[in-house]
Amino acid sequence: MRLPVDSGTVHRHGCAPFSTGVRPDASPLWLVLSQTLPVSGNSLRVKSLLMKTLVMKFGGTSVATLDRIRNVALHVKREVEAGYHVAVVVSAMSGKTNELVAWCKDASALYDQREYDAVVASGEQVTSGLLAIALQNLGLPARSWQGWQIPLTTDDAHGSARIAGVDGTGILEGFRARREVAVIAGFQGIHAESGRLTTLGRGGSDTSAVAIAAALNAERCDIYTDVDGVYTTDPRIVPKAQRLERVAFEEMLEMASMGAKVLQVRSVELAMTHRVPTYVRTSFDDPNDPKPGTLICGEEDIVEQQIITGIAYSKDEAQITLRRVADKPGIAAAIFVPLAEANINVDMIIQVVSDDTTTTDITFTVPTADFERAKTILEGLRTLIGYTSLQGATDVVKVSAIGVGMRSHAGVAARAFKALAEKGVNIRAITTSEIKFSVLIDSAYTELAVRTLHSLYGLDKA
Ligand code: ADP
Ligand code: ASP
Ligand code: MG
Repeated sequence: MRLPVDSGTVHRHGCAPFSTGVRPDASPLWLVLSQTLPVSGNSLRVKSLLMKTLVMKFGGTSVATLDRIRNVALHVKREVEAGYHVAVVVSAMSGKTNELVAWCKDASALYDQREYDAVVASGEQVTSGLLAIALQNLGLPARSWQGWQIPLTTDDAHGSARIAGVDGTGILEGFRARREVAVIAGFQGIHAESGRLTTLGRGGSDTSAVAIAAALNAERCDIYTDVDGVYTTDPRIVPKAQRLERVAFEEMLEMASMGAKVLQVRSVELAMTHRVPTYVRTSFDDPNDPKPGTLICGEEDIVEQQIITGIAYSKDEAQITLRRVADKPGIAAAIFVPLAEANINVDMIIQVVSDDTTTTDITFTVPTADFERAKTILEGLRTLIGYTSLQGATDVVKVSAIGVGMRSHAGVAARAFKALAEKGVNIRAITTSEIKFSVLIDSAYTELAVRTLHSLYGLDKA
């Protein structure tokens, strides 16, 4: 059904290909999916102009029990009664995916990734069916959709697949013919060529939801979770954190990339690329009196911009130091090319020239999950690179401050270095970019550092 992304051809079957990178100009039709559907009988396009579409996503805690699922059904009913066509995306019940992952690991240390996907995708299959039943019980037409039924197609990177396309034909037909609520199992898709089930990486239901909102040309995508919006930092570790009314796409992308787990990074990339207005809000308030939450939107839609919008932290970093590496051309490539080829993302890099000017120390960070693999690769290259010792540390954390206001203000990071020094926090590595800076510190100081920076930039709740 899916045509190549760069074909420039009209997608006659209503397929909506896109990538998470920059959208190729040759395929602008994913946005207005209704234009590309087969024109048979009633024009879906005319219908879609009459009724707006809404995507609602409910995370694990929102569907943790049957009572919570009944509560979700009331939130959906409210929107249907307000006149929307609704596509709901659900996660597995909270804790379920962890359990399924643990089962795979228990079954075999070296498990087949394709079977891992078959196992872990099952959590969402359960909740999609249960919510459809709960909605029917309220008198609303509803049906469940698995990723392969839509189909939501992906590449074959099992365990962290990227979405290639979403075919909205069946869902739109359900809207048109029966005003049927589409209850979609998040987190999962299908690799069209092999016909195998795939999953989108942990937290991937957020990405399913935004992708479906883009494909259905939805008015907005509401991400319901256990917090009532995006906060200046994780409210679980800083009680003084404040809820933000609005966050710019770019800032949310950095916050998510730097560890704010409230949204999966790829979901923010998609929302930004396809300009999907996305709200983060809670399913725990009264379904008849809901709060809007936080809007993720274009920078131009934010009136009062602070210098720093948020502080994030990630314990998902490990540090590697190579001592006394030869200081000559080609050494950086000898270290980092093999890591890149093994799909290991290197983040912070520091090179120190030592006294003798012929050798240097190189320190960098990799995701904790790739630490052992990175060490094994580098140990295998020891003679080639010529280092004297390899040291590693996993008890480190990366703390980042993010804000588009940094573009126009100097000395923002320098203030943080001073404040951290005054608290006795030693900085192991630093990186900066246009709208963020990050420091790598000992993990024992995580809370102290996050709270210090949160106060320093005036983010504490009064
Ligand atoms: P869901 O299961 O609904 O997808 P998640 O656990 O993935 O929910 O995301 C919600 C959690 O994200 C919150 O409980 C909160 O602890 C955490 N979080 C981290 N950083 C932030 C932040 N800046 N704002 C709001 N929540 C955050
Ligand atoms: N259930 C999956 C997870 O726990 C996907 C999600 O909840 O977004 O990672
Ligand atoms: Mg989540």
